[in-house]
Amino acid sequence: MSRLYNFSAGPAMLPEEVLKIAADEMLEYKTTGQSVMEMSHRSKEYQAIFDETEAILREVMSIPENYKVLFLQGGASSQFAMVPLNLLNKSGKADFVITGQWAKKAYSEAKRYGECKAVASSEDKTFSYIPKLDKSTFTPDADYFHICQNNTIYGTRFTELPDTGNVPLVADMSSCILSEPVDVTKYGLIYAGAQKNMGPAGLTVVIIREDLIGNAKDFTPTMFNYKTHADNGSMFNTPPTYGIYILKLVLEWIKASGGLEAMKIHNEKKAAMLYDFLDSSKLFKATVQGKDRSLMNVPFVTGNEELDAKFVAEAKSKGFLNLKGHRSVGGMRASIYNAMPIEGVEKLVEFMKEFEATNA
Ligand SMILES: *Cc1c(COP(=O)(O)O)cnc(C)c1O
Repeated sequence: MSRLYNFSAGPAMLPEEVLKIAADEMLEYKTTGQSVMEMSHRSKEYQAIFDETEAILREVMSIPENYKVLFLQGGASSQFAMVPLNLLNKSGKADFVITGQWAKKAYSEAKRYGECKAVASSEDKTFSYIPKLDKSTFTPDADYFHICQNNTIYGTRFTELPDTGNVPLVADMSSCILSEPVDVTKYGLIYAGAQKNMGPAGLTVVIIREDLIGNAKDFTPTMFNYKTHADNGSMFNTPPTYGIYILKLVLEWIKASGGLEAMKIHNEKKAAMLYDFLDSSKLFKATVQGKDRSLMNVPFVTGNEELDAKFVAEAKSKGFLNLKGHRSVGGMRASIYNAMPIEGVEKLVEFMKEFEATNA
């Protein structure tokens, strides 16, 4: 067996330690005589796993008491509808910053349920930067203000949060959650699909301030109402039981590695290594400049499509997987989430140097 360096944007690499524990516990979890996958979600044994997962997530992210943590399904894409169905309940208005495809999808879906405004966009330059925000353009009585905190496809991130005053800030954190500390009190709602930095696909985590629960639109499907899940401890129906268990292992790994402060240092180190090389390279060029650069997703190009394709193919043959850029951008993208070890980035940079020497 040989595990290669996987630069996939998601589903993505998980820590090897986590996979080993999961493998050891695959046939029998502790002394329960069964795999976690086979457990009733109503059992005492499973409830213990579930409660522990929530407790460690609260500890690692310092989630205050007045926020509920929900373990749902449907991906971040379901949240594009669930957020407006539940939150567009006073003025029926919401503001959006259009920083990429995911932000745009959140905006288009919300428009079906209320009056939505794009306060800024970076589409003019293929979303290669975070647009400057002007507070005077914000809707003062908006029910929420939505951002996509890290733009997985384009490799940008917000380093400064918009000042929305009393308007709840809603953030899609699918590709940056758990990568560094965040001040949860600055948000009304945080959501993330698990498959980038938390665990396997199939689990969606929502962290929501309690006062935002309970005012969903009348026609909201029961399963799309946050109150349904909040009132039932995320067990109104069967939650994604195995995904939650893997998240528990990932959180234990993060805790043992020093928590989110340590993740931030680890992630900054990897990103700096890659960006420093790209900035000094004669062949490769980063597509994002300055402070908007993502720590998680690093897109780059050679400027020549054939050479890009050659690079992706040669990289694959050397054991660097999934470096092809998103189909809408082309070029390459290295996703370097928490589980990507420093050596993975070191070796990738070494390989890029070799490729440059023979192809520049
Ligand atoms: C991957 C991703 C999504 C889509 O997630 P699904 O779980 O596939 O619905 C949405 N937003 C961001 C920022 C993402 O990275």
